[in-house]
Amino acid sequence: MIRSVPQSSLAGAPPTSARAAAPVILVGAGPGDPDLLTVRAARAIAAADVILVDDLVDDRVLELARADARIVHVGKRGGRASTSQAFIERLLVHEGRSGRRVIRLKGGDPFVFGRGGEEMDALHRAGLEIEVIPGITAGIAAPTAAGIPVTDRRHAPGVAFVTGHTQPDGAGPDWDALARSGLTLVIYMGLAHCAEITGALQSAGLAGSTPAAVIQSACTPQQRFHLTTLAALAADIARLGYAAPAILVVGDVVQVAQAWNVDAGVPVDRAVAI
Ligand code: SAH
Repeated sequence: MIRSVPQSSLAGAPPTSARAAAPVILVGAGPGDPDLLTVRAARAIAAADVILVDDLVDDRVLELARADARIVHVGKRGGRASTSQAFIERLLVHEGRSGRRVIRLKGGDPFVFGRGGEEMDALHRAGLEIEVIPGITAGIAAPTAAGIPVTDRRHAPGVAFVTGHTQPDGAGPDWDALARSGLTLVIYMGLAHCAEITGALQSAGLAGSTPAAVIQSACTPQQRFHLTTLAALAADIARLGYAAPAILVVGDVVQVAQAWNVDAGVPVDRAVAI
């Protein structure tokens, strides 16, 4: 049984033989600051016996765990040796079968670029009960923290959340279509390929003067952001030493942040002239 909220069923009942006493909970840990957890997430963390944690989860969130909870770091970071997804799923199923209160704590929202869907599949195949607690995804938290209203109706009819990471088979977003869409583009995992992405968007007809932003470590003490243009974004990121985790935003809505940050007296190294 999959429960997005307690007592509601989104799927058929699993085989009863393997059912654990408590559901395994996929918990969205939000972008960083523990104040941005949902109340339900905070309660689940405080009640857990076993917590399987991703790299991007802020340490302060783990302070909500019981002192005797077992915390297992199963981080996966681009470019670094990391736990394989298959291992994480096996561990999740193994722990879920123990009957202990197990939570899988994932940065942002568990189902936004977090492989939460694959983990839910693995748990469901194993016949375990599942609950999912949404979290504030970085693609919402980061632009908002920088004062960028992603769907400001004066500038954009909507927003697209896309990955900047190309699959091993070369599959990735259709940058041509996105450039023509008129949507604000919020790009996760976009730093490594920023020059290719911004080049593709301009080749598809998006003006180099289109406002753009990079926001690093949103909602953590290390938060920094930079407002610029599509043409200058990649060079600015390299020059200013921006590093993961970061969100890129491309679209006219970024100019609203520019005006707001300047009026709010935000230091110019964080909000530069577009
Ligand atoms: N499930 C997560 C996303 C996982 S993919 C969520 O919903 O937020 C990891 C990517 O998310 C990073 O490469 C980065 O692009 C983005 N990200 C996560 N936390 C971030 C933060 N605090 N600030 C900026 N970007 C962040």
